[in-house]
Amino acid sequence: MAVPCRSEAAHSTRQTTHEPFLRTNDSTRRRPCGELGNSKALSLKRSWSDPELEVYRDTVVRFIEEELLPGDEEARKRGNVGHAVWRRAGALGLICADIPVEYGGAGGDFRHEAVVYEEMLRRSLTGMNTSVHAIVAHYLLNHGTESQKLKYLPPMARGELVGAIAMTEPGTGSDLQAIRTRATRTGEGWRIDGSKTFITNGFLAGLVLVVCKTDPAERAKGISILIMEVEGAQGFRVGRVLDKLGLKAQDTSELFFDGVEVPDGNLLGGVAGQGFYQLMGDLPYERVIIGVMALAAMEGAYQATLDYVRERHAFGKPLIEQQNTRYKLAEIATQISVGRAFIDQCVEKMLTGALDTSTASMAKLWGSETQGKVVDECLQLFGGYGYMNEYLISRMYADARVQRIYGGTNEIMKEVIARSL
Ligand SMILES: Cc1cc2nc3c(=O)[nH]c(=O)nc-3n(C[C@H](O)[C@H](O)[C@H](O)COP(=O)(O)OP(=O)(O)OC[C@H]3O[C@@H](n4cnc5c(N)ncnc54)[C@H](O)[C@@H]3O)c2cc1C
Repeated sequence: MAVPCRSEAAHSTRQTTHEPFLRTNDSTRRRPCGELGNSKALSLKRSWSDPELEVYRDTVVRFIEEELLPGDEEARKRGNVGHAVWRRAGALGLICADIPVEYGGAGGDFRHEAVVYEEMLRRSLTGMNTSVHAIVAHYLLNHGTESQKLKYLPPMARGELVGAIAMTEPGTGSDLQAIRTRATRTGEGWRIDGSKTFITNGFLAGLVLVVCKTDPAERAKGISILIMEVEGAQGFRVGRVLDKLGLKAQDTSELFFDGVEVPDGNLLGGVAGQGFYQLMGDLPYERVIIGVMALAAMEGAYQATLDYVRERHAFGKPLIEQQNTRYKLAEIATQISVGRAFIDQCVEKMLTGALDTSTASMAKLWGSETQGKVVDECLQLFGGYGYMNEYLISRMYADARVQRIYGGTNEIMKEVIARSL
């Protein structure tokens, strides 16, 4: 009989983080959700990695296993991971890893960011959304004035200011140019009125990039991004932390703006009407992240499934000895291997600045669609246990679904790719 992975039991028996506490060939073993088993399932080398980066990966894994994983159950109940773990990640240099040192970042590159996303997604630890945080940091880095970068990037890198970007509204998502949140000029700056929904990091955020209409007569040209500091923002309110199908530990929230004043110096880049172009410029970065995360989730699902089917017996033998199980896993291993070649190519291009929006959209489209299929096939091999929330594979299934929706829906990805044909 297989037993769900209950973190409390597992943690009480664990000696050190890296010492496997699991007995092999024991179908009653317990494993905390999010902790991977011992199978060296697919040891596919990343073309962009090197020994130094693998040492960094060890630090990331240690942080995840020792500091993120133990709090995951509580974070899932609460709907957010809390501020302490953000500060801890900041102290270790694990957030804003690809932001230059002069702005408080770790001075690494996209590979350092990718390693963090990979190790979190392999374990379905999706509460701490460092990718949206990084995206916000990159808007500041790529489009902010020097004083905006110097003011906001260092506290973001330390994990003291959690970043969010607020585009989507109750009435519009894909059609960004139709947003209605309005920023009007005042004597010293701007006054924001409107509402946003589905905002990642919305509850914990200390800094929100608010995408507004500064000229409602225009579509793209009427959009600007205002930097709003949450502390002391009169008229700003966080609404519900939304109850979602998956991503249970992640604080996706509604935000309300009722005459919120921000100073002139908080217009991103200092020029009104640039918001839409600023958003479009950073799309490859955002979309390749989703591709990287999707592939890592597939690898994690595959590894968890391989562990399971080696231990679970039916009809007198382990499930892995059933032809269907082996064929399914062979198909999945093939998909992951092919995907590794494409996603690695995208990461390489990202590093040299050669990744175009169409290719990045393919990474998002292919990655999220294949992730959905792979995780679904894996869950099937768990039988009824795969449907239990206590199992990692069940969480992976719920978490995977949104990858096809956010970051631009997959229908919009097809539009973007089709335009480049
Ligand atoms: C968990 C989660 C986190 C999110 N985080 C953020 C965040 O941090 N910040 C933020 O601003 N937003 C965020 N979003 C919002 C997300 O980006 C939007 O949900 C998404 O862009 C789709 O917008 P919508 O929900 O309004 O759907 P709609 O735009 O109403 O689309 C509905 C359907 O119509 C299709 N459709 C729309 N237009 C076309 C078209 N032209 N051609 C073909 N099909 C079309 C869509 O593909 C979709 O299938 C998040 C959403 C979720 C669920």
